[in-house]
Parts: sequence; C-alpha cells; structure tokens
Amino acid sequence: MNDHIGFDGRVAIVTGAGNGLGRDYALELARRGAKVLVNDLGVTGAGIGASSAAADDVVREIRDAGGEAVASYDSVATREGGAAIVQTAIDAFGKVDICIANAGFLRNGRFEDLSDEQIDAVLGVHLKGAFHVAQPAYKAMRRNGYGRFLFTGSASAMFGHAWQANYAAGKGGLMGLSHVVAIEGSAYGITSNLLLPTAASRLAAEMTDGFKEIPAFADSIARSDRAAARGRTSPEYNTPLALYLVSEACRETHGIFSQNSGRYAKVRIVAADGWVAPVADAPPTIEELARQWDAVCDPTIEHEPLTVYDEFTAASTAARRQGVI
Ligand code: NAD
Repeated sequence: MNDHIGFDGRVAIVTGAGNGLGRDYALELARRGAKVLVNDLGVTGAGIGASSAAADDVVREIRDAGGEAVASYDSVATREGGAAIVQTAIDAFGKVDICIANAGFLRNGRFEDLSDEQIDAVLGVHLKGAFHVAQPAYKAMRRNGYGRFLFTGSASAMFGHAWQANYAAGKGGLMGLSHVVAIEGSAYGITSNLLLPTAASRLAAEMTDGFKEIPAFADSIARSDRAAARGRTSPEYNTPLALYLVSEACRETHGIFSQNSGRYAKVRIVAADGWVAPVADAPPTIEELARQWDAVCDPTIEHEPLTVYDEFTAASTAARRQGVI
C-alpha cells in the first residue's frame, strides 16, 4: 500500500520559518515536494532585532537539497508585511495552497504588571499577525477552490500558564479565528485547524520561572512527569502532525490538535448536557440555579457544538432529554 503523503505542486507559506518548529515544517514540506515561502523577521525569542539570515539559511538548506524555496523577511505584525509575504509567494510560485501561521515570540510577566507594550507586541505578532497573513492567503486560496490553514495555538491558552496572560489571550484568539476560517472556508475547499505544539525550542529560554510564585501552578509543575518525554521534546516531533493537517489527504477541519512528548491527540471543546430551566414566564432564580449546580457541571453527557447554532441544537436536545419540552 502506498500511503505516502506528498506535497508535489503545492505552494506553502510558513511564517517564522527561520528557527524552531517553522524551520522544520519548511524543510520537510520542501523535502516532500512543496514550493516553500520561508518567512522570518529574524528576531530573538523576545521579538527583538531583525535579520535576513534566519530565512536565508533555511532557503539555502532547502535549495542545497534540491528543493524550491524563496525567502521573505517581512514582519507578520503589520498588514503590509502580511500582504508582502503572500505576494512574494504568488510572484514566485503563482498561487498559495498552504498557510502555516507560526511566527511569534514571548514577553512574559505577572498578569497585573503586563504593560501595553508587552500586551500589544504579543497580540500583534500572534493574533493580528495571523490575520495579516491569512486574509490575503485566503483570497488566493479561494480563487483556486483549495486551501489548508494551520494556526499555531498553545496549551498555555487552552489549559493555562501563569505569567502568560498576553500570550494566552493571543493564542486563544487564534482558536476563534481558526474556527471561523474553517466554517467560512468549507464553502471553498479550504480547511483550518489549530495546532498546540510543544518543543524545547529557544522560546524555552524566555520562560524565566517567576511563575512558580503561584502555589497551585507550582504544584502542577511539580506533579508533571517531564522525564517521561524521554527526549521526545525537539521541534521535529510537531512536524508530522503539522504536515498531516495541511496535506490534501487530511479531511480534518475546525479541529484542535496537540503534540506533547511524542503524544498526538485531538483536543475538543465540549459542553455538558447541563440543567434546563422549566418553561416559565421568568428565568430561574440564582438560588434555583445554585441548587442545580451538580447537573450544570455533570460531565456524563457531552455535546460538541461546531457552530453557535449547534449549541441551540444541544440546548433543545438537552431540554427534550430532560423532559422540559
Ligand atoms: P522560535 O523562536 O524558535 O521561532 C519563531 C520564529 O518566528 C523566529 O525565527 C522569529 O524570528 C520569528 N518571528 C518572530 N516574530 C516575527 C514576525 N513579526 N514576523 C515574522 N517572523 C517572526 O519559536 P518556536 O518555539 O519554534 O515557536 C513557533 C511557534 O510555536 C510560535 O508561535 C510559538 O508561540 C508556538 N508555540 C511553541 C511552543 C513550544 O513549546 N516551543 C508551544 C506552544 C506554541
């Protein structure tokens, strides 16, 4: 059986492809036949400076191995930068099939101390940066009736990480962005998924451990069995999942997928069946709701709405099951 997953004829944009995860995605996409736009502003893990070397080195590596790639040094953090990234891919290769929004950096701090500068810079690169690249890429994909988006979320947003309120807000926003791109893109052959990667990349160097001052969070760190990763912590462990999600073979869309220590798993947003208030002239009192709290939180029956209207369906299904209507 030939189950090879190839990218011949595909054009891929990878932002932040000069280091870490993005670099490995770009190399593997090119190895498997894609033409790759290697974008990187060449900044530090805190988003300082700028250099063309990061993107140039990856382009050189791809070309030396016989692949096709072009470099872009534009910042995703501006609308002009995003437009230039997509235009460079179109000028070089004629179209865009795949867009992996991966560029980013950290500026961690205690929630109450985060400055406008820390908040704006981090939201600007992760959340607005994804918009800046994805909007023109989406238009190009729509013209061809085919596209694959992968947005880079984070476990820090989905599950929480102390001292990363700015980063988690940006990465959490990408979940909403990916969901809506998946819904709208379904009309045009465009899929969108969110990846929660994990890797001992240079971003780890930005993680000063002041966050251990929070006792419950420090306990969670102490309980975690990091040694069980047995070395499966390099950026390369994220690549099979990222590339599968942007392959033609993959039919997934509107999904959230996690890689941690070599474990690949779907992450789902589910709602409990909950408690349905009686049909009456007035809503329930706070006290009535408090009395029903166990039912509100009961995880026995779950719904997984994929649109706002699926939640109306979940509510009516729960109401019928509970004999309320
Ligand atoms: P990295 O620092 O090795 O790579 C990020 C790259 O993005 C850098 O080369 C940097 O120059 C580039 N970049 C930063 N700002 C840019 C901008 N404005 N325009 C273009 N390029 C820019 O980090 P990484 O660990 O490979 O992270 C890649 C992505 O994965 C990031 O979005 C990060 O938040 C996310 N992520 C990483 C982890 C992890 O454990 N490493 C976990 C969750 C999410």
